[in-house]
Amino acid sequence: MGYNCVVLVKQVPDTKRITGQAMNEDGTVNRAALPAVFNPEDLNALELALQIKDQYGGSVTVIAMGLPAAAAVLREGLYRGADRAILITDRRCAASDTLATSYILSCGVKKLNPDIVLCGRQAIDGDTAQVGPQIAEKLNLPQITYVETLVSLAGKAIVAKRNLGNGWQEVRSQLPALLTVIDTANEPRVPRARQLMKCKSAQCRLEVEAAAQNAPSVDVDAVCRDLKTRGLLIEQWNLDDLKADLQWCGRDGSPTKVHRIQSVVLAAKESKIVEPSQSGIDTMVHELIVDHTIG
Ligand SMILES: Cc1cc2nc3c(=O)[nH]c(=O)nc-3n(C[C@H](O)[C@H](O)[C@H](O)COP(=O)(O)OP(=O)(O)OC[C@H]3O[C@@H](n4cnc5c(N)ncnc54)[C@H](O)[C@@H]3O)c2cc1C
Repeated sequence: MGYNCVVLVKQVPDTKRITGQAMNEDGTVNRAALPAVFNPEDLNALELALQIKDQYGGSVTVIAMGLPAAAAVLREGLYRGADRAILITDRRCAASDTLATSYILSCGVKKLNPDIVLCGRQAIDGDTAQVGPQIAEKLNLPQITYVETLVSLAGKAIVAKRNLGNGWQEVRSQLPALLTVIDTANEPRVPRARQLMKCKSAQCRLEVEAAAQNAPSVDVDAVCRDLKTRGLLIEQWNLDDLKADLQWCGRDGSPTKVHRIQSVVLAAKESKIVEPSQSGIDTMVHELIVDHTIG
């Protein structure tokens, strides 16, 4: 029996290459100054899905939500071995926090009705690790987070080992289920050169339209038809395609509001030595409560 897997992949700024220009004066990320990359743990999630396909058959679909530029991670998903790529893109998605993002992505997943949904544990920019669990909750799916090893897959049952940092836990679940995958789960495969060359030209319609602006003789419909025939059209869904309730999307669907962003740099002179005793800890906790750091 084959398994249909959906992998959620996010395009993120490469936070490993932080330079002096990486932050704007207002404390927000200067995305233009950082190269965009495939979120690292999403590569591990994709690798696990590809291993499931190799062993049991089925299919792998990659979905990204973002601007048209996010099609780049979907191209990479295709050349790494995914069968289908879908970009969820819509201006009305802008300013979505994790709650809205997970609602929108859950609408996309629902349309595909997969056996297994795989996410990275965490994105290296937003860093919340909330999106996977929130999608599972919205779709009423069982979830296994922090997956390091797929122990077994048989019929409608999956067993996976979670790495909790200070130990492991084996969890059995019924399918469909959602997994979040950590970076020690596997070594993402090196793409095959032929597949890479083929999928380099995969595009979504918005990319074809943007290229056609400089070449008015290009027939966008004909190019998209041709890409589709060759399996190189990255599908594009908007919020209407998803039949999404707009009150749960974008700014309206995002209860989190950013009031102030502050860059905190602690100097050595600001450090304080706490005596390693019960009274030292009590004094420190008291001070933190008094200055409203905790409590
Ligand atoms: C207060 C606040 C305000 C924000 N405002 C904005 C804003 O105005 N504009 C803006 O662009 N962003 C904004 N964001 C960022 C945006 O909400 C997050 O990037 C997004 O919700 C994903 O959360 P995360 O990065 O923490 O993902 P995590 O929960 O850490 O990601 C876990 C996994 O979920 C999946 N995943 C997450 N996001 C996506 C995606 N987009 N596509 C596919 N898979 C995905 C991946 O598998 C990923 O590994 C804001 C975030 C916060 C907290």
